[in-house]
Amino acid sequence: MDDLGNIFTKPSRRDLLRWGAACCAAGAICQLQREYVWALQYAAGTGALPGPALEGVVRHEALHWEVLEEKKVKCALCPRECQVADVERGYCGVRENQGGKYQTLVYGTLCSANIDPIEKKPLFHYLPGTTAFSIATAGCNIECKFCQNWQISQFRPEQVKSVSVSPERLVDTCKARRCPTIAYTYSEPVIFYEYMHDTAVVAREQGIGSVMISNGYIQEKPLRQLCKRLTGVKIDFKAFSDKFYRESCAGELKPVLTTLEILREIGIWLELVVLVIPTLNDSPEEIKQMGEWVVKRLGPDVPMHFTRFHPTYRITNLPRTPVSTLERCRQIAMDAGVRYVYAGNVPTHPGENTYCHNCNHELIHRVGYRISFNLLQDGKCPKCAETIPGVWSQEQALAFKPRERQTDSGA
Ligand code: SF4
Repeated sequence: MDDLGNIFTKPSRRDLLRWGAACCAAGAICQLQREYVWALQYAAGTGALPGPALEGVVRHEALHWEVLEEKKVKCALCPRECQVADVERGYCGVRENQGGKYQTLVYGTLCSANIDPIEKKPLFHYLPGTTAFSIATAGCNIECKFCQNWQISQFRPEQVKSVSVSPERLVDTCKARRCPTIAYTYSEPVIFYEYMHDTAVVAREQGIGSVMISNGYIQEKPLRQLCKRLTGVKIDFKAFSDKFYRESCAGELKPVLTTLEILREIGIWLELVVLVIPTLNDSPEEIKQMGEWVVKRLGPDVPMHFTRFHPTYRITNLPRTPVSTLERCRQIAMDAGVRYVYAGNVPTHPGENTYCHNCNHELIHRVGYRISFNLLQDGKCPKCAETIPGVWSQEQALAFKPRERQTDSGA
């Protein structure tokens, strides 16, 4: 699980000492050196955002719902389409009906904020070597038994310590930290849709991009509306089996496939991650079908990341994914025609690097989340001049406009 430290809170002297000790113990000197610099900035009061922990819930008008009889509402944000009686909440636990009006309880209530390498999302073809100001609120609209962030995703807002941060304040902080991107991540950003949307609007105006790191469980109308504001998307493609989605995630496969096809149609930069869990979603046949579907429905240029599972949450009886399984998945997807396939959570593995799909020249070398070298020249291979799919400059990121259907109103 990602570090859930709260960077909006001014650290104490003890925090600084603790981070220093952790630095020595873990040997992660480069990463923590950077955190130490941030900590010094907070201590000096430069751009710090001290804020007391929230007490109670914050209410904000929700988008995408309709009124039913007897003060009931129907949520139209995600495929669950919860019908919610007065004073009740939807499945995700963060949207509440108050007298026939639907409200979100997580507008700007951040329980996690960190500055991460964009590679940690993971996005490998989106501004490599840059940072993403990464935030989350409590809640999720599915329940994965293997969730790495279950401490925030599977709790209600009032059960998780949070601070209130407006979109403007978040964007100001992002600029002060010189992050070109905000990542909506860790839990499930679809359930804090309104905040993500409004923040992405402000961010674009200030020259900052927005990437959604999501399970893809969202309806078409809110997705299209949101993509007018975003600059990139990563979807967790959890399996190519409805049985897996139902039994391991309390969800369904079809809505995720629909989301992926809409994203492809819109044309936003998209990468896919498959967390490979031994015996549950690692069969060669399933991976082959998934790779073939990706090539046929999304095209060969959508990168796929096959990442290593670690026992957690409600799946502690299975081992870590063998590296050989990741290598097999990677090969199967490449054989199916996917041009950029990565092995994830295996630092120093050659499968973490980017190779030109035309001449196989190594373009980007990674060690974990760090870039050792990036040879791309204006998004092209320096050896054969082939254009490499991706978003390679902030100008390119901010220039993105979704392709719209003829029937879209443009509202
Ligand atoms: S976003 Fe929440 S309330 Fe709305 S349909 Fe999905 S689970 Fe239900």
